[in-house]
Amino acid sequence: MKPIPVNEPLLDGNEKKYLNKCIDTGWISSEGPFIRQFEEQFAARVGRKYGIAVSNGSVAIDAAIAALKIGKGDEVILPTFTIISCAAAIVRVGAVPVVVDCISDTWNMDVRQIEAKITPRTKAIMVVHIYGLPVNMDPVLALADKYGLYVIEDAAEMHGQTYRDRPCGSFGTISTFSFYPNKHITTGEGGMILTDDEHLAERCRSLRNLCFQPHQRFVHEELGWNFRMTNLQAAIGVAQLERLDEFVARKRHIGQLYTKLLSNIPQLQLPLPKTDYATNIYWVYGIVLNDEVPFDAKEAMHRLGQYKIGTRPFFWCMHEQPVFRRMGLFEGVSCPIAEKLARRGFYIPSGMALTDEQIGQVAQVLREVIQ
Ligand SMILES: *Cc1c(COP(=O)(O)O)cnc(C)c1O
Repeated sequence: MKPIPVNEPLLDGNEKKYLNKCIDTGWISSEGPFIRQFEEQFAARVGRKYGIAVSNGSVAIDAAIAALKIGKGDEVILPTFTIISCAAAIVRVGAVPVVVDCISDTWNMDVRQIEAKITPRTKAIMVVHIYGLPVNMDPVLALADKYGLYVIEDAAEMHGQTYRDRPCGSFGTISTFSFYPNKHITTGEGGMILTDDEHLAERCRSLRNLCFQPHQRFVHEELGWNFRMTNLQAAIGVAQLERLDEFVARKRHIGQLYTKLLSNIPQLQLPLPKTDYATNIYWVYGIVLNDEVPFDAKEAMHRLGQYKIGTRPFFWCMHEQPVFRRMGLFEGVSCPIAEKLARRGFYIPSGMALTDEQIGQVAQVLREVIQ
């Protein structure tokens, strides 16, 4: 059997044509015209006023936190089951990450746990849509409204997804996306910040560009970063965005086919096909081993690896990160559902270029390995 990588992107649209345009015109830096085009088209697609392209999805979160002036002593509520980028952005500015557990079927943050964590120091709720289904946003928006909190929406895994027919990425005071090659659309590396607030958009643009000042370029009132995206990346992004609907349909097909082939393996918890507010877009196809399986995700991934099938573990909880524990954060915190997901969950090949034949092979090997 040929190796089946955990992810392989599809780049067979206008990517090459637009890249050639960059090279032919000499516009390869962040000053090139594809940047504005990508920003405007992506923002329009998500129904936001402003888009600010950046070098990846992690720094998009750093910029969001800085733009909102969240800092020392402030608290931000977020799911423990997420990528390090979310908590790192909070910790780096001296703010305190306050985590909530997730729900066992959608793997998203349990929004019922948020209100009890709100204190006078809370500045924002950071929502992170996980693996293909959005967070239940209505209760989050109601709490943000009630307590006057910002919403930071990490929509890195949600290109083309909706919550009650509104685009994911349209809910945050600031929302962020990633265009890493395993996302629904990719620019190699890349990210986007979205907002409807002109002032915040301006701050993000400035923070992305070292806080150079328009009138006196090399005199700085504030510290920024070089988080700029290149025209080459934006060119790929414009080509990818043209195919977003097709890509979402493709991912849904992959997810539905896996579910059809795996649903009669009682030892596996599969992704929820839908909730009352969204239909899964299967950013990745995650699997959780139930208690009957006498080994954990690490062992299952090792066994699949012997057949050259690529896998990735689920996120490891923020409150269990050695780096944060050493800082004295999260003492006494326990989130049993997320802790279990982290140990018993992993995802199988789910990239855009995956064929139906490969899906069949993965399902067959998985069945052998589990049973
Ligand atoms: C991928 C991802 C990121 C980080 O994006 P990068 O572009 O890899 O830095 C952030 N948040 C979530 C939820 C992600 O899935």
